[in-house]
Amino acid sequence: MVTDILGQISRVMRQCKFRFRTVSISHLLEVQEAVENLIRQGLINEQLYKNWHFYLSTNNNLPEAETIIIVAMPQPITRLIFEWQGNTFSAEIAPNYIFEEDESRVEENLNAVLSQYGYSIVKAHLALKTLAVRSGLAEYGRNNISYISEFGSFYRLIAFYTDYPCEDDNWGDAKVMKICENCSLCLENCPTGSISSDRFLIRAEKCLGTLNEREPDFPYWAQLQPDWINAFIGCMSCQSICPANKSFVSNILDGDAFSEEETYEILNKTPIVDLSEETRRKIEKFGIGKYLLLASNLSALIEKQILAKQKKSGL
Ligand code: SF4
Ligand code: SF4
Repeated sequence: MVTDILGQISRVMRQCKFRFRTVSISHLLEVQEAVENLIRQGLINEQLYKNWHFYLSTNNNLPEAETIIIVAMPQPITRLIFEWQGNTFSAEIAPNYIFEEDESRVEENLNAVLSQYGYSIVKAHLALKTLAVRSGLAEYGRNNISYISEFGSFYRLIAFYTDYPCEDDNWGDAKVMKICENCSLCLENCPTGSISSDRFLIRAEKCLGTLNEREPDFPYWAQLQPDWINAFIGCMSCQSICPANKSFVSNILDGDAFSEEETYEILNKTPIVDLSEETRRKIEKFGIGKYLLLASNLSALIEKQILAKQKKSGL
């Protein structure tokens, strides 16, 4: 039977403004090796790696899987609002820390196409950035962040296994954006000196984004520099300055607003079980696991904004 499965997937993905690539499942071992290499260099949290289901154990839910479909969903920066001591403060959050409903839309759309032909899909817990750059869906920037020309670095990734045979295997070498050849803005704008001119890999042990992924809190040397903190979770300095993000960086989504009481609870690390259902719902959008990180970032952001206001008013 001649089908146009890829054409149909392309159409539904385009309608949703998503981008995708397919790769053969035979490359999973290479993904695993690439990620192990990153762990050896300290670029990926080992605990995170243990949560991924690699190679032989990877597709237990669909052992006959033949293809991985990797999808990118545009996701702008989100601005959150916090009421605190009679004033209003804002905190921005980078796209990859926000979890919205788009993921189920991707799954429903892929399922709608593939199930017509008797194929199934299951979500794949994999190293998504590695898959995106090796499939040609994205390219690396000098800052080790991945970019897609239509979205900049402001998107989220999701991957699925399917038993649909791989008709278009896009596996290849990871590429670095051409624009990086004559640019060093991220390097100059990195508060911790994590990006070097002499090597492609960032110094993960100093990167605020990576530290927020693996530390229960920022280490003392980072906490001594509240001026470095620029995001509710992680760090956005190298993405904000990047010319590849020029068309996207001012597209900011209004996120949740947190009342005085909710801000107090976050700053004081009130146990999650003691939060109201409404507050938990807001926190769940960036993952309950990140909850304890929020206090130090938020207090630094509030302090920075108070200082900026005082400076402006000449106090
Ligand atoms: S700031 Fe410049 S060097 Fe850094 S990732 Fe963006 S384009 Fe590349
Ligand atoms: S995320 Fe922040 S600390 Fe990490 S490389 Fe980018 S600018 Fe530097």
